[in-house]
Amino acid sequence: MECFDTHIHSEGKGITELSKMANSGIKIAVSCAYYPIKPTHYYTLIDMFRKISSFEVNRGKKAGIELIPAVGIHPRCICNEWDKALNWIEENGRVVGEIGLEIGSKDEVEVLTKQLSLAKKLDLPCIVHTPRKNKKTVTEKIIDILKKSGISEDLVVVDHINRENLEIVLKSGYWMGLTVQPGKLSEGEAVSIIEEFGFDRFLLNSDTGFNDLECLTVAKTVKILLERFDKKDVKKVAIENGMKIFR
Ligand SMILES: [Zn+2]
Repeated sequence: MECFDTHIHSEGKGITELSKMANSGIKIAVSCAYYPIKPTHYYTLIDMFRKISSFEVNRGKKAGIELIPAVGIHPRCICNEWDKALNWIEENGRVVGEIGLEIGSKDEVEVLTKQLSLAKKLDLPCIVHTPRKNKKTVTEKIIDILKKSGISEDLVVVDHINRENLEIVLKSGYWMGLTVQPGKLSEGEAVSIIEEFGFDRFLLNSDTGFNDLECLTVAKTVKILLERFDKKDVKKVAIENGMKIFR
């Protein structure tokens, strides 16, 4: 079955790995902005956005994957004068991500709030990161900021959902991203969440990038789902839900 990996960092992958993903069934993926060391200047962010939006899209093509560029300021990438990078997003952005909160500091809240208001103004979908630490508390804070922003539930994926923050996000109405990657969810855990809560509001992703080795987890999860559930339902989390929000 054709699959959509809704959150990767293609910059961290070689053409060989991207080709393996394509061969496993991944036809389309969102390539999210993230700079692996804290940038010292906002120009670093802008150049990364440019790279993701052109160079990476072309590398994806070579490997047989359509890459949708997502540009945004990750909470771990906040630098001086970060707001100047927003102009680039405003002029060129198609998807805003990866944004969100890591520890929930005042700065992070401000950066997230500004980006959400930009996304709302431009009617762009957003990928919102939730952290590993204090997941429940920080997710509550994120939902609060999202609600205050007034952005449509259909434009937002709250990502890296697990059993700790699932109920909070489920009630909120946003899309929910299940990241299948060692240290986040196993294929079995993702399948059990979908089995319990249905196929309608979940998206699958690998978040594969600079450190993560496992890049075929979306296709593997879809394979398990196909063994156990109706093809029509599986198709929703494999590709259709992603198409609704990102296309
Ligand atoms: Zn990510």
